[in-house]
Amino acid sequence: MESMMDQTVGHESKVENTQPVTFQTPVKPITAETWPVEDVMALFDLPFNDLLFKAQVLHRENFPNGDVELATLLSIKTGGCEEDCGYCPQAARYDTGVEAKKMMDVREVLNAAKAARESGATRFCMGAAWRSPKDRDMEKVETMVREVKAMGLETCATLGMLKEEQAQRLKDAGLDYYNHNLDTAPEFYNNVISTRDYQDRLDTLGHVRTAGLKVCCGGIVGMGETRRQRAGLIAQLANLNPYPESVPVNHLVQVEGTPLHGLDPLDPLEFVRTIAVARITMPKARVRLSAGRRQMGEAVQAMCFLAGANSIFYGDKLLTTDNPEAEDDRVLLEKLGLKTRGVVEKKAGSCS
Ligand code: SF4
Repeated sequence: MESMMDQTVGHESKVENTQPVTFQTPVKPITAETWPVEDVMALFDLPFNDLLFKAQVLHRENFPNGDVELATLLSIKTGGCEEDCGYCPQAARYDTGVEAKKMMDVREVLNAAKAARESGATRFCMGAAWRSPKDRDMEKVETMVREVKAMGLETCATLGMLKEEQAQRLKDAGLDYYNHNLDTAPEFYNNVISTRDYQDRLDTLGHVRTAGLKVCCGGIVGMGETRRQRAGLIAQLANLNPYPESVPVNHLVQVEGTPLHGLDPLDPLEFVRTIAVARITMPKARVRLSAGRRQMGEAVQAMCFLAGANSIFYGDKLLTTDNPEAEDDRVLLEKLGLKTRGVVEKKAGSCS
């Protein structure tokens, strides 16, 4: 993930070997309230090609290597969650066929971390389907973090809401990154989740920053929200000061048994627009194509890369040799001539 040292973007932007490009919509320095929702909406409303061009210019300026980071998701504590996130098959209250499992043993996690390292990973992320970690969970997670760190791997976690002291304990144990998503715009949030408030999420992100951890934070689109509400989500993310180092943009995967199953699917071009707007408003963040990528097909994914996505979730059996999904990804990246970053996250859990 990229440094947050220089977040100032001028009104002009240069692409290598081209003339300077003047933006009609100002790109502002990143400070608190830098991106009012109106300004984000103005980006969404641009003609598609203008939006993608603008996003691609900023993308090249901030990521001259043009590489794509690979991230892999693996759960260490699956299912049985007490929360009611309307998209999530791991919520205990929804009949989705996901079985609640106990947290993995430290030894199992360390074996997975070792295998990840041997396969070239430099970062290993651990997560769990919890509202928030309990004290007894914390001790176990801290041990995992400490031991994984001792292997020479970067560490990442997604464990639900954190208190200030929990974030500090994770930092002290050697955690580098914490994932916690805002999910959607504040005004749409209650349509999706009732068991925790938007402010709870912002508080956790604050604790994570205060502890000195790097932030991975994004959301989900296609949950029935309006364009303005998508703009509201992006504005919230972009106005975090500093904005997240990593911004996962998920396309809702509708799971039978969850309340959000059966919605009309989002227009794929609107998803591409969301990626482009995330790139423009958070120019130095790794914008990650996350859930829903499989359903998009190659052409939409290619447009997302053009729009500035530069991280993908990679098959969760990455460390096995016969992973057809990972193979599809390799083929697609090769077709597009995209390099991969020498970092593979072995990410555990998807709790936001
Ligand atoms: S997203 Fe996380 S907190 Fe929400 S129900 Fe799923 S596992 Fe629980």
